[in-house]
Amino acid sequence: MSADALTDRIYQTLADAFGYRTFRPYQEEIVRALLDRRDVFAVMPTGGGKSLCYQLPALLTPGVCVVVSPLLSLMKDQVDAAQKNGICAATLNSTTSLAELRDIYASADRRTLDLLYVSPERFNTPRFQEFLKSVELGFFAVDEAHCISQWGHNFRADYLELGQIADLFPNCPIAAFTATATDRVSEDVQTLLKLRDPFCVRASFDRPNLFYQIAYKEDFDRQLLDFLREMPDESGVVYRSTRKNVEKTAEFLRKQGFKAEAYHAGLTDAERARVQDAFANDETPIVVATVAFGMGIDKSNVRFVVHGDLPKDVESYYQETGRAGRDGAPARCLLVYGYQDIAIHRSFLDDYQDPEARDAASRRLNEMVAFAEKDGCRRANFLRYFGETYIPPNFNADENGSDAADAASPESASKSGCGCGGCDYCVGSVRRVDATVDAQKALSAMQRTGNAFGVGHIVDVLIGARTEKIERFGHDRLPTFGVGADRDKTYWRYLISALLTQGIAELDPTKNFPIPRVTRLGWDVMRGQRSVKIVERPTGKKKKTTSRRSGGSSTLSTAGGASVSFNSASANPYSKSSLSPRDRRLFEELRALRLQIAKDENVPPYAVFSDKTLVDMTYLKPETDGEFLDVSGVGVKKLENYGYEFMQAIRKFLEENPK
Ligand code: ADP
Ligand code: ZN
Repeated sequence: MSADALTDRIYQTLADAFGYRTFRPYQEEIVRALLDRRDVFAVMPTGGGKSLCYQLPALLTPGVCVVVSPLLSLMKDQVDAAQKNGICAATLNSTTSLAELRDIYASADRRTLDLLYVSPERFNTPRFQEFLKSVELGFFAVDEAHCISQWGHNFRADYLELGQIADLFPNCPIAAFTATATDRVSEDVQTLLKLRDPFCVRASFDRPNLFYQIAYKEDFDRQLLDFLREMPDESGVVYRSTRKNVEKTAEFLRKQGFKAEAYHAGLTDAERARVQDAFANDETPIVVATVAFGMGIDKSNVRFVVHGDLPKDVESYYQETGRAGRDGAPARCLLVYGYQDIAIHRSFLDDYQDPEARDAASRRLNEMVAFAEKDGCRRANFLRYFGETYIPPNFNADENGSDAADAASPESASKSGCGCGGCDYCVGSVRRVDATVDAQKALSAMQRTGNAFGVGHIVDVLIGARTEKIERFGHDRLPTFGVGADRDKTYWRYLISALLTQGIAELDPTKNFPIPRVTRLGWDVMRGQRSVKIVERPTGKKKKTTSRRSGGSSTLSTAGGASVSFNSASANPYSKSSLSPRDRRLFEELRALRLQIAKDENVPPYAVFSDKTLVDMTYLKPETDGEFLDVSGVGVKKLENYGYEFMQAIRKFLEENPK
């Protein structure tokens, strides 16, 4: 086939089967490499559009393309979605019945099967490998390929066997996909899968549609409520580190009138499956969960991810927040953390048998703390962790073209209030203030009480509370007693938490109870050789009201307690919040229709149409087949299956709601 003819076929397939006119970054290159029968190694962020990279060439390749994927639920959703696009796909796993198996084998024989999803366990059976030898094969795609590496955070022993693919099927290209970026894991994957001079892609890890916020934990319930009030009716996940907290937060949200359910390892399999389905189907918009919830979530319209406790490392944080906004519409990520979280993670470290693994986990935890604490643009910090330099879009470019990279530095961001434009820091809601004198007071209270008391007691000393314990130890006679009486307890707790997270104080590891003590850095502060900055928060001056509930739906309150205007709609035209009230009603009707169809067909709603597609449809209000095909995400198959019903609904709406 000539180069032009090939290009035409590729773009025709993109439009017909997937309903898109353009590729996302690197998709086209990967598709072409596979059509050239080259191995591929691709690191792409969640939501980067990995599935299209192998589904599209599978349609243009004779023979069956085999996709190895670790999770049953994910496989099922992928197959549902592929079938909706008219791709002949099937899944083979431990739940496949004999009859289904025969069907699959028969369609492979008839050469009608494009894609076969298998679990690694299934791939490893001699019977299955024999079957593969007997049919014409296209290529192998290994999804979540980092699972093969022991250095990754999701190692699965089954994956090691995939190293056989290259030996058993030497003429078949292998494409490995992962969203895990570290060099060590990348090298491991390529070596273990025995990739042959692969075409390598490393897409940017930037998720431009995600807004990041990080806040110190003061009163998590209230902070969560403030956040959720700004996004009514949206769907999202709230992560908590323990089962108990999951239950507590879910209960709290229900009491506040939210439709929320808990998800953790303590529930039965059936219960967990029910919660996951209800979430996927938009019946339960909010799930409060431990990190056990996630890998299987392929829902594209997750509008927020909240972390109520510190994640164990930056990689996990990236993956977990990455579940938001996969459809490309704006979504928000809030992390609320406190020093107690760090202590809990440290105690988990003792579970490691292998000292090397323990050290690695400890280092990753420290990096997470440093990330949460770090000044400057969250997005730039994130990307730096993954080895990228962030170049922000040049919103304020003057005629001479200001230096874009410089805008991401903390100094210039705080001056101009504009770096990425998509994090609390860059929209100017985080301010740091000097707290050196207060830090000296708090450190001195620790030091003078012998570095032997809990935070509550230290705070009592600072504010000059006359408790029984203070009198028993004679702490009311210390020079530090009452030096912090101008501020309230919450402020001092907050300050000490900041000192702990900045390493100016630390929790004594030899004690069973959290006892803060002064560190070397702390001594520098006490001697006046180092200053301390903390994120600004309400003054904590006594007798002032401490309520700082944000006023309206367009404000955003963050760590500093400052409120800023934040209009997510302006960031992305594909936001349903950017719709006019009339269009919003139409959107809701189309959404209801989608849910109805999804229920009838027993698939998740996003397998019918993504939110982004519905928003586009709302804008375009197609009335003819041609117009319907113009909607992003609509290919010929979907036009055939759903075009009539949706255009009917649009026509009816327009009649009943004339302009
Ligand atoms: P990943 O597996 O990398 O996390 P997916 O393959 O699930 O990402 O794709 C994420 C979303 O992006 C899906 O809703 C998909 O339909 C959409 N998408 C993929 N490729 C394109 C494209 N070229 N144009 C528009 N949307 C796309
Ligand atoms: Zn930023």
